[in-house]
Amino acid sequence: MAAHLSNNKNGVDSVGMSLADLPKSWTFTASLPPDPMFPTPADAHKFPREDVEPRQVKGALFTWIRPETVEEPELLAVSSTAMRDLGIRDEEQKTEEFRELVAGNKLLGWDAEKGEGGYPWAQCYGGWQFGSWAGQLGDGRAISLFEITNPATKRRYELQLKGAGITPYSRFADGKAVLRSSIREFVVSEYLNALNIPTTRALSLTLLPKSKVRRETLEPGAIVARFAESWLRIGTFDILRSRGDRNLVRKVSTYIAENVFDGWTSLPSRNSSDDGKTDGPISTGITPETLEGPEGLEENRFTRLYREIVRRNAKTVAAWQAYGFMNGVLNTDNTSIMGLSLDFGPFAFLDNFDPHYTPNHDDHALRYSYRNQPTIIWWNLVRLGESLGELIGAGPGVDEAEFVEKGIRAEAADGLVARAEGLITRVGEEYKAVFLTEYKRLMTLRLGLKVHKPEDFDTLFSEALDTMEALELDFNHFFRKLSHLRVQDLDTDQQRKATAGVFFHHEGVTGLGNTDASARERIAAWLEKWQTRVYEDWGPDGDDVNRQAAMQAVNPKFLPKNWVLDELIRRVEKGGEREILERVMDMALRPFEERWGWDEAEEERFCGDVPRGDRAMQCSCSS
Ligand code: AMP
Ligand code: MG
Repeated sequence: MAAHLSNNKNGVDSVGMSLADLPKSWTFTASLPPDPMFPTPADAHKFPREDVEPRQVKGALFTWIRPETVEEPELLAVSSTAMRDLGIRDEEQKTEEFRELVAGNKLLGWDAEKGEGGYPWAQCYGGWQFGSWAGQLGDGRAISLFEITNPATKRRYELQLKGAGITPYSRFADGKAVLRSSIREFVVSEYLNALNIPTTRALSLTLLPKSKVRRETLEPGAIVARFAESWLRIGTFDILRSRGDRNLVRKVSTYIAENVFDGWTSLPSRNSSDDGKTDGPISTGITPETLEGPEGLEENRFTRLYREIVRRNAKTVAAWQAYGFMNGVLNTDNTSIMGLSLDFGPFAFLDNFDPHYTPNHDDHALRYSYRNQPTIIWWNLVRLGESLGELIGAGPGVDEAEFVEKGIRAEAADGLVARAEGLITRVGEEYKAVFLTEYKRLMTLRLGLKVHKPEDFDTLFSEALDTMEALELDFNHFFRKLSHLRVQDLDTDQQRKATAGVFFHHEGVTGLGNTDASARERIAAWLEKWQTRVYEDWGPDGDDVNRQAAMQAVNPKFLPKNWVLDELIRRVEKGGEREILERVMDMALRPFEERWGWDEAEEERFCGDVPRGDRAMQCSCSS
């Protein structure tokens, strides 16, 4: 395989570095308080690994703890995109050192003899699970090794091993991950990134042949080396708030503003010139004027931090909706402060468009169903607003010495609460606006249009979704198929009805009360409206070649649907196959291609119609 080239800041091509040589840091552990049981890494290192037990950890954001050592790890797969983004050279994956590192058998940065250096850690957090307070959770099976900075991009990532053994946060579980769920997390992390959806990433997948993990049955264990610019979650704030740790809420907030985001000045402000900075090219429709609220709703920097977190999550959930992705377990401990898709258990992509579908077999209330995701993420963000409420509500007085030390005076408490509520409500409006703007932007692109017109929402978006729902059409395949159409071929009603058949499943028209003729009629009516809009945006010939290319660049041909992942898991785990993983990963990393130069029939099968009995599958949470 050719070495991946990346441009460093001098414009000179470099082929990356070894993992050992990449610049490392431990900013997180240097900035935030450790578990009082082990004040230094040396204390933690002396403690026998096998004596680690779940317990409550108070007044701390993390515990220093090393991964368990494992026997005969087998490196199954590496993401070439992840290697490039981290600045690691491609050949590195063949080295013994790399294999041992991503399996947790080797520490970098720690001098065991001197008892000093950087040391791995597990985070403490809490969470609301399925709407109920769950208390302390934390990294029960994930251990972060270090932060690495890609010298070319200057981006700093925290590298973490999932499935690396028991930590104080393991509660009643074993600290391990099974191969099945590790394959799923490995593939989907890199796939979402390929779709440009904010997500935590995955570098490698390691099989632990000697580790048998008990779930419903005995299963092989595995480790995913994953990375993110930050692993902090809403649950991080939940646990601090539940314990009344107001100093730590301020401290973590400050850490996030200064070390995760680009400093306080980078956060959204009411000053429109600053606002553009974090807003990128997307306009929210929110101007300083629309944000003028009732008297006294002055925003201090913590409110601006809250807004940044809210806006990022709004954009991510908009992308999930536009691509039919469901996390399946959107608890607050799985909601990232960076708006990253995070913690992949029973996730899925929509097959047939069904807004009530949840991929989580145990989600009887449909709390985490497709249509609830935007509401649930806001519910989670309100929990964050409550954790930050004292800081938000303090307004301009947030840095007054008495407030910092003792909190608000009793007589001022009502005012503080009223201000916090007012501000959080206003940020809720911003959440909706950012969500809608991003959703419309993505749907406009997916439909191959250049601009969004207000009437598109009802005429094109809603009508397409209603049609897909009524006719039981595959949501993502609909867009890819649409991208292959030439608009001149849709001029007559007869042509449109003939074309409509491309959207059907192989077994023909399904869905209550539908016939082949009624289905064709409905799709043809929609295609006519779509054609009109394409002509408006692309000129009198529809500019097929350029429009098709633009549409195919945003509408994936390949999706890691559950049936594909199930087959992949079966073949790797039971069949001992290895190459299939590389093939599927290649498709996941380049999902917009038409061909991948593999076996054409197999490519088409994996990208094609979902076998009828395999649609809308559900998974349990056991992973
Ligand atoms: P999840 O549902 O994967 O987001 O996990 C919720 C919480 O349970 C987190 O604190 C996890 O670290 C913990 N957890 C899940 N599975 C395990 C396991 N096998 N061992 C230890 N902790 C786990
Ligand atoms: Mg989790």
